Amino acid sequence: ITSKQPNIGTTIFTVMSQLAAETGALNLSQGFPNYNCSPKLIELVNHHMKNGMNQYAPMAGIMPLREAIAQKTFDLYGISYSPNDEITIVSGCTEALYAVMTAIIHKDDEVIVFEPAYDSYVPCVELNGGKAVYVTLTPNNDFAIDWQVVKSKITERTKAIMLTTPHNPTGKCLTQSDINSLAEVLKDTNIFVVSDEVYEHIIFDGRKHLSPAMHPELKERTFVCGSFGKTFHTTGWKLGYCLAPKELSAEFRKAHQWITFSCPTPFQYAFADFLKEPDNYLSVTQFYQEKRDKFINWIKDSRFEWIPAEGSFFQMVSYKNITDESDYDLAVRWTKEIGVASIPISVFYANKIDNKILRFCFAKDDEMLERAAERLCRL
Ligand code: PMP
Ligand code: GLN
Repeated sequence: ITSKQPNIGTTIFTVMSQLAAETGALNLSQGFPNYNCSPKLIELVNHHMKNGMNQYAPMAGIMPLREAIAQKTFDLYGISYSPNDEITIVSGCTEALYAVMTAIIHKDDEVIVFEPAYDSYVPCVELNGGKAVYVTLTPNNDFAIDWQVVKSKITERTKAIMLTTPHNPTGKCLTQSDINSLAEVLKDTNIFVVSDEVYEHIIFDGRKHLSPAMHPELKERTFVCGSFGKTFHTTGWKLGYCLAPKELSAEFRKAHQWITFSCPTPFQYAFADFLKEPDNYLSVTQFYQEKRDKFINWIKDSRFEWIPAEGSFFQMVSYKNITDESDYDLAVRWTKEIGVASIPISVFYANKIDNKILRFCFAKDDEMLERAAERLCRL
């Protein structure tokens, strides 16, 4: 077979989780909780399965779930999406991102991607015939976005700009000033915004999640891609959604109907019920704030350096005071030798820039986090 993706290997998340399993290391690499979701949610899935909700859902998702998402989005962010034709349920944010790219990219279109970039972004662009154009963020200015640089990357082939807030792996969140700059840069263009907001509720120190869709001029051109996996500790259920104005959603749905057609029905009914109680998603903010703070406190006597994550369930740490080994080799070595698995940040850069930073996932029970921290403090 002639590979369509000759430069693509196995995702780092599979590599590191497998290595952690083989070596018995504490797995702070791949982003998933090691605790269960709410028993109430499981009961709801059971209930709907027993009640016969086991056949294909409508292509766009069951209406009660689309209505519940519309309500939550309006209540939290003051933005309206019609459940009828502006909200689509998909198989996780991964599918949302892929379907957006399938819907909008024509051959050789360019998509602006900030790196470090979550690893599925560039393959999504390239498999759909596009080209990623990078804006490189670095620790030298705390991964802040220079909007003049973004502007300089725009050409007549630019089709979209991809954003992540809160960001994986840096934990950075878009500010109102970022959003205003984005609106300024995109004024008088037809460029779409693809906004990955899977960590919308995992945001710290009193920050408010800001979506580009909250800006009236940006909403018209924005696809918001969300997921229930992170919010409800259900990454394995692979359910997410895409919010976009009617015309954009219509194109999005054309792609979605050929990728998965529809998503598992009983889970959709369960989330529709569960979303009715706002505390079920609002409580996750405090839950992860405590985890971040505990993890940081437990590594405070280590030789690592860090800036506390603003959001997401990842904490990046610099190990430059400990060794100058490459981050990839070090992540592998420490998994085997000290029994703590992490993700090297270089994998999220096209040119594998090595800033000597590792990413630890703190969506783990306190016992695991404390044991991992003890080992990290010995380094
Ligand atoms: N975007 C980001 C930034 C992520 O971290 C992840 C992984 N959790 C995804 C998308 C994929 O989300 P899902 O599991 O809903 O497909
Ligand atoms: N988003 C998760 C992470 O960043 C992993 C998801 C996956 O394994 N594809 O670790």
